[in-house]
Amino acid sequence: MLSKVLSKSSCASCKFCCSFRRQSLWETPLFPQETVDKLSSENEYGVVGKFRMSQTVQGVRFGRLILENNYRTDNPEEEVPCTFLDPQKGCILKGEDKPFDCSIWPLRIMDKNGELVIALTPTCPTIGATPSEKLVELVKSELGQRIYEYAKTHPYIIKEYREKFPIIG
Ligand code: SF4
Ligand code: SF4
Repeated sequence: MLSKVLSKSSCASCKFCCSFRRQSLWETPLFPQETVDKLSSENEYGVVGKFRMSQTVQGVRFGRLILENNYRTDNPEEEVPCTFLDPQKGCILKGEDKPFDCSIWPLRIMDKNGELVIALTPTCPTIGATPSEKLVELVKSELGQRIYEYAKTHPYIIKEYREKFPIIG
């Protein structure tokens, strides 16, 4: 969804957003119930994930990928890759199986004092910490609307607003 501002080649050599330190576990991928059902048993990708089903948000159930058991050291800087990350090919999930959250990263829809906003996670090395004109234009055109629409039916993707995340839309 961000192909206008993110090239496949920059993501292929980076993969930062598909590995998680302990302090980033709040960002691990969230999946709708039907995708959890599919990916937690034998599936077309040949990789089975472990999920924790969460309480419903506005009546919608979802699962969070469990990665916290994969750390091997106590080092807070240790990163563990997402279960669905292939070191050579990148994310192996296709189409609707890929979490919407992952498709829009480093954008996030967040709740800031009761108001929904689209904000930029400032840690993507390619996009950077300051939204470019191109990114702002993209959010203000069709993408922002699409994110708001998705959040209406999948409210669990809405995260609590974090300071220093520039608001775009
Ligand atoms: S952090 Fe940014 S550049 Fe790196 S893989 Fe994720 S979206 Fe691509
Ligand atoms: S589901 Fe795919 S895009 Fe999302 S974190 Fe895992 S490997 Fe990355």
